[in-house]
Amino acid sequence: MMVLVLNCGSSSLKYQLLNMETEQMLATGLVQRIGMEDAGFEYKVPGGKEIKEVTSILDHTAGIKKTLAALTHPEYGVVKSMDEIAAVGHRVVHGGEAFTSSVLITDEVKSTLRALFDLAPLHNPPNLTGILAAEAALPGKPQVGVFDTAFHQTMPRTSFLYALPYAMYKRHKVRRYGFHGTSHRYVSERLAANLGKSLDGLKVITCHMGNGSSVAAILNGKSFDTSMGFTPLEGLIMGTRSGDVDPGALFYIMQREELTVQELNSMLNKHAGMKGISGISSDARQIEEEMEKGEARAKETFDMMEYRLRKYIGAYAAAMNGVDAIIFTGGIGENSNLLRGAVCRNLSYLGVELDEEINNTRSKKERTISTPSSKVQIWVIPTNEELVIARDTVAVVNGGSR
Ligand code: ADP
Repeated sequence: MMVLVLNCGSSSLKYQLLNMETEQMLATGLVQRIGMEDAGFEYKVPGGKEIKEVTSILDHTAGIKKTLAALTHPEYGVVKSMDEIAAVGHRVVHGGEAFTSSVLITDEVKSTLRALFDLAPLHNPPNLTGILAAEAALPGKPQVGVFDTAFHQTMPRTSFLYALPYAMYKRHKVRRYGFHGTSHRYVSERLAANLGKSLDGLKVITCHMGNGSSVAAILNGKSFDTSMGFTPLEGLIMGTRSGDVDPGALFYIMQREELTVQELNSMLNKHAGMKGISGISSDARQIEEEMEKGEARAKETFDMMEYRLRKYIGAYAAAMNGVDAIIFTGGIGENSNLLRGAVCRNLSYLGVELDEEINNTRSKKERTISTPSSKVQIWVIPTNEELVIARDTVAVVNGGSR
C-alpha cells in the first residue's frame, strides 16, 4: 500500500511517498512559494533522481498535481500511475480537544477543523487547504488527518489547566495542548521496541530539539505533561521563539515600545529564542560553531538553551516521581553531542552516567549513550514523523484507530 504524506503550510507543501509494505520512503520533496510565478519544486528519489525547478505554481492543488506528475513520471517516477497511491496522510497541527487520535477526513471532520482555526490561525487553515487540494487532485482516495496535539490529549487536568480564571478555559478553551505529539510518541515507542518491553510501568522524558523544541513526560506510554502549551511558544528556548517568559515583562515591553499585539507576537515567535539572544543565528549548529571560536554571546545562548532544557528534565522527573529513560531527538537532539553532554553531565543526581565516547561518535542510528551502570538510560532516537503519519493512515484506512 502506497501512502502519500503531506505537510502543508500557507505557501509550502512537503511530501513523501512511502511503500507501507516495506515502510520504505520512495520519494520526497517540497513545493515552496506556492501562489508565485517563481515557485520552487523539489523532488528526490533516495539514491536516485533529484530535481530542483523554478516554475509557476499558483495554488496547493497545482502543487499536488505537479508532485503527482513527478511521482508517476515514466522516466524518474516511482509509481506507474496515481491508482497505486492508496491514501493520503496529512499532518494537521491543532486538533484541539476534538481529536485524540488520527481520523478519516469526512465533511464533519472538515467543519470541526474550521471551528479550530482560531486556536491555530497560522497552521490549521493551510492544513485544511492541503486536505481540500488533495481531495481535488486525488478524488475518491481516503484522506487521514494526524494531529500534532492528539498524543498529548491524555495529559491530566493538573498538567493542562492554566491558573487563569476558569472561565477562560470554559469559554475560550485556553489550556495547554502541546505539540510535536507524533515525534514524542514515535521515539517513545521506538524506545520500547529497542528495550523489547511495553511502555507500561516506564517513566520516559522525550526531548524533541529542532527549530521548534519541546520536552514531554511520558508515563506508561501516555503523555503526562509537555513544555509547549496553548501555542508552540511556551517552554524551551527555540530557534526564534522565546519559550517561557514572565507575561508581566511582555505588558511592560508592549507599553515601552508601543507594540501592537501582532508586533509582540512576531517578536516572540520570529525574533526571540537563540536568534534574539545571540544576535547571531537561530541555527544551533552555527551557534555552536561561533561558541567554539570563543564568541561569548554564542556560548551564553547555548548555555541558556541547555539550562532551560535541563530544568524541564528535572521538573518532569519530579512530576513522574522518577525517570527510567531520557530520549534526545530532532535536528539538535540527534546531532549535538555538546548539548547532550552538557545536559547529562549535570544529571548525576538522578544517577545518569553518560558514555562520553559513544556520545561523541557521530551516527544516524538509534542508540543508547549512557553507560551500562547508569540508573537512567539515555537514548538518541532519530524521529520520523512522516512514518508515523503513514502508519496511522494505513491503520485508519483499514478501519482501526490510532
Ligand atoms: P525542524 O524543527 O524545522 O524540523 P530540525 O529538527 O531539522 O528542524 O532541526 C534543525 C536544528 O538542528 C537547527 O538548529 C540545526 O542547526 C540543528 N542541527 C542540525 N545538525 C546539527 C549538528 N550537527 N550540530 C548541532 N545542531 C545541528
